[in-house]
Amino acid sequence: MTQREAISLNCPLCLTSFESEVLSHVLATGQDTDGRLHFHDDDPLPSFIHTCPTCLFTASRNAFHVHLGSEEIFRVRGFLEKFEAPQTPSERYMLMARVMDHYRRDDPIFPANAWLTASWCARQEGLRDREQECQRRALRWFDEDLRLALAHFEERTYLTFLVGELNRRVGEFARAKEYFNAVPTLVNPSSPEDRFLVTMAVLQKHYAGQQTHVNTRVPQEFINRGLYLRHFRTRLEQGATRPEVSAV
Ligand SMILES: [Zn+2]
Repeated sequence: MTQREAISLNCPLCLTSFESEVLSHVLATGQDTDGRLHFHDDDPLPSFIHTCPTCLFTASRNAFHVHLGSEEIFRVRGFLEKFEAPQTPSERYMLMARVMDHYRRDDPIFPANAWLTASWCARQEGLRDREQECQRRALRWFDEDLRLALAHFEERTYLTFLVGELNRRVGEFARAKEYFNAVPTLVNPSSPEDRFLVTMAVLQKHYAGQQTHVNTRVPQEFINRGLYLRHFRTRLEQGATRPEVSAV
């Protein structure tokens, strides 16, 4: 059952102390084909990031514990001054993503994932244009990640599927099919997870062939067998503990 926990955070930019909340023990019950999980109770996504009420620094809980140099603090605060306080989950993720566009260019997975999560929140809020804008921005970074070959091999297979799926969702059907076609060439045939990914690529290629960009879900038969599309959680968590914020 979902649990709520009140937490205290200190902003690394402006030193404001404030209260926030995290959800734990969330139970996933399904997944959209771009990786967005669905939950039994409340959606925990809004509680994965926190916004400083003074300077609007918005980041994961871990990022509030990093030590930033005075020059980085000055730059990020100056950047944040251009923005109004975000009101909705998608606005908060978009603000985090905009900061990462500038200050986490060392690893495209950070801005890519922030934009992807913003698109999930926009979908939840029924904002289709915003969802697609965020998907396009995520795509640019995921493409960059593939180009730089930063991801290890297993992750690259999933990234290829995801880039295909995001292309389908923004209406780039021919490009989507190219990526879906590439998935079977990358997998390890003895891995059940990889075989699942190939099945999903075939399914989503079918939708791309029909030129439909609607939201689709992972068939429940896979979810019941514990097969979910993978996230980049490990890589993100490793990165979140890194002490530096790379400058432009
Ligand atoms: Zn602050």
